Amino acid sequence: MTVPLIDPFQRAISYLRVSVTDRCDFRCVYCMAENMTFLPKKELLTLEELDRMCSTFVRMGVEKLRITGGEPLVRRDIMTFFRSMKRHLDSGELKELTLTTNGSQLERFAGELYDCGVRRINVSLDTIDEAKFAEITRWGRLPQVMRGLDAAQEAGLRIKINAVALKGFNEDELFTLAEWCASRDMDMTWIEVMPMGDLGNEDRLTQYWSLDDLRAQLATRYTLTDLAERTGGPARYLRLEETGQKIGLITPMTHNFCESCNRVRLTCTGQLYMCLGQEDMADLRAPLRASEGDALLEQSIRDAIALKPKGHDFDYSRQEVDGQMSRHMSHTGG
Ligand code: SAM
Ligand code: SF4
Repeated sequence: MTVPLIDPFQRAISYLRVSVTDRCDFRCVYCMAENMTFLPKKELLTLEELDRMCSTFVRMGVEKLRITGGEPLVRRDIMTFFRSMKRHLDSGELKELTLTTNGSQLERFAGELYDCGVRRINVSLDTIDEAKFAEITRWGRLPQVMRGLDAAQEAGLRIKINAVALKGFNEDELFTLAEWCASRDMDMTWIEVMPMGDLGNEDRLTQYWSLDDLRAQLATRYTLTDLAERTGGPARYLRLEETGQKIGLITPMTHNFCESCNRVRLTCTGQLYMCLGQEDMADLRAPLRASEGDALLEQSIRDAIALKPKGHDFDYSRQEVDGQMSRHMSHTGG
């Protein structure tokens, strides 16, 4: 291993999220427009380039790799990449290889993912009502995802369900979802909706539901205990005392997690975002393509990490159009 990556605020960068495609087989209303224009293929990092990029980060101290998208499992031959990353788990340099998925392809890939060393996955699922699921994902079908969840559990993968909190949409499923997750021994996290891309916020399907309010609603039925556990990201955890279940709350709009932030995000085109809430990024594709050795890439990564900001404040007036982030989650991978 080379000298580890430490940012100017003495935070060790140990977690890399990598978007491997901007494409998806769903069109969730808060994430994508129905008629998305995707990037030309040549803009994307090839699987070999993704391997080089991730391997370089691992050599520089990244211990946790989360693969995301778009939908990571719709990228052609993505299992080649997972299989190749397994060598870093085998060597002990990488502690965890994981992914965030919409679950649509799990029936096909769960066993292979397990064989590649994946042990835990996040599956995004906002509702377990079939009609509502079709409405929110536009193109998704719930039974297919349910079969994927079954396959994942049969393969031995531990599942965390991530649900985006949407006022007037899945508010009424707060308890249903918690109980359903408990009954299947799955963890659960709620995510506050962010005004990304060109979304309007008036729509019933993209209405902001604050997690403070969600928490208050949970407290009407359960005794809640805040847990000290932190992962370096924007998640906080609480326990429902009556069931022992742990529920995560992700509030990306608040910045109370910045001081412990240990992560950076790589887009499918090789841009490195140092902070979820800021538009500053570094292009790593050019240095990667400029030479066959990794020295130039390593230096570009170090230069980028030296620019990692202390935190973000989601200052919409400064960096966004009409109060909204101009980049899509499917580009940076959420
Ligand atoms: N397709 C995969 C999936 O849905 O899990 C991975 C990519 S998706 C962009 C990653 C996460 O971002 C998902 O959990 C999704 O719900 C979340 N996400 C997308 N748009 C969002 C938004 N506007 N606000 C909050 N979360 C969002
Ligand atoms: Fe696709 Fe995930 Fe975005 Fe939904 S949230 S459109 S599944 S990338």
